[in-house]
Amino acid sequence: MKRNQKPSVPNVFDELNYTDKIFDNRDVLASSFIPTEFPHRKYEIEEIASILRPALYEDRPSNILIYGQTGTGKTAITKFICNQLKEKALTNGKKINSAYLNCKQINTPYGVLTNIGKAYSRDWEKSIPSAGWRIEKVYSALKEKADEVAGLTLVVLDEIDALVSKSGDEILYHLTGINAVLKNSKITIIGISNDTKFTTWLDPRVKSRLGEESLIFSPYNAIQIEDILKQRSQVAFKKNSIDPLVLSFCSSRAAQEHGDARKALDLLRISAEMAEREGEELVTIEFVKKAQNVMEQDLIRNLVSTLPIQHKATFASIILNKGNKKKVQQTTGEVYGTYSLVCEEFNLDRLTQRRIGHIIAELDMQGLITAKIISLGRQGRTKYINLAIGNRQINSILEDDSFLSEIVFNVKKTGFKGSMQLRLL
Ligand code: ADP
Ligand code: MG
Repeated sequence: MKRNQKPSVPNVFDELNYTDKIFDNRDVLASSFIPTEFPHRKYEIEEIASILRPALYEDRPSNILIYGQTGTGKTAITKFICNQLKEKALTNGKKINSAYLNCKQINTPYGVLTNIGKAYSRDWEKSIPSAGWRIEKVYSALKEKADEVAGLTLVVLDEIDALVSKSGDEILYHLTGINAVLKNSKITIIGISNDTKFTTWLDPRVKSRLGEESLIFSPYNAIQIEDILKQRSQVAFKKNSIDPLVLSFCSSRAAQEHGDARKALDLLRISAEMAEREGEELVTIEFVKKAQNVMEQDLIRNLVSTLPIQHKATFASIILNKGNKKKVQQTTGEVYGTYSLVCEEFNLDRLTQRRIGHIIAELDMQGLITAKIISLGRQGRTKYINLAIGNRQINSILEDDSFLSEIVFNVKKTGFKGSMQLRLL
């Protein structure tokens, strides 16, 4: 080697030796992707399209309410049809405006009005301060702008139940009444809800105006989900990279959980990514099983991270009891004993045993623990409490949650140091 020549350092990315063996087009599995074909939704698509058709003749289509469980295609299909309608109108030389709002994110009257205004021009929002105006003033500004731009606007309010539960239905009262005061323009509202009972919270006038037409998307069965997966995998994957059993396995799993196509697509994507990372050329059922574990763990981790502090303290006590005595079962009294020590040690307010009993029942319902009532004959009844998740999952939860891990690891390492324990001894 010459003196001033740098020794060649291998590049980590060369070492990865990466060629895409499985995916052809991974974007089509992303949750934001909108397909152009929707197996098993022909009826729903035709129904919505025929309700919206008057828009092409400059009539105002009826407002529509779409209900259905998550993953039944409501969002994707609504976006697809709105795009198609706008395209069709353009070929006839007409412009239809549209605004899509996810009410989980935008759930104040102010936010709803300013975001609808964006359908007319991007600058509109700039002329409205993000707060400070009275809502009536924003409403008037929106009306003015709508009449200035003229024509029809489709307003999609996705997850509309979140708007009503956060801000009530007054904003919907005004929005559905807006056509009566618009001179040059019209608005059609498409509301989408995962909660079929949500209209029971609405004022009857709002309910009838909003639901001029309504439609239910029923859950898919396993065969239907498999068709959806087949169609998507033809574009997403390289030929022969998916074991055919994988698709039926993913779809039967998702069908068991209220026919959710999103679950099935996520499961398929994560399985394929795992196979890819391990350098495999074929996605097999083994990867789906692994992916399922990972998804479940994520779910449990999310659940635990959002538990209130007293629930966490109770859960930590159950973990500690299990670890200490290697006992399979614990009674409410035993959980309460450890919980009391935890409260002392970590300066928490100590709740009564009765309250902890309720918390135990809630943890049971959430599937983190099992609490069985056992009859002891003459001695009455007791509750046997056990963890419902395995050691590996517990460890990954502890890694994630600093509050829980502080309790569990500290106590495991040094025991209870506080006065409580001395008194108990
Ligand atoms: P929802 O809004 O009802 O919760 P989405 O519209 O978000 O459900 O659909 C979830 C996922 O399933 C999306 O990726 C969507 O593209 C897909 N999907 C749902 N139904 C179908 C279908 N009939 N054909 C193709 N893909 C579908
Ligand atoms: Mg949706």
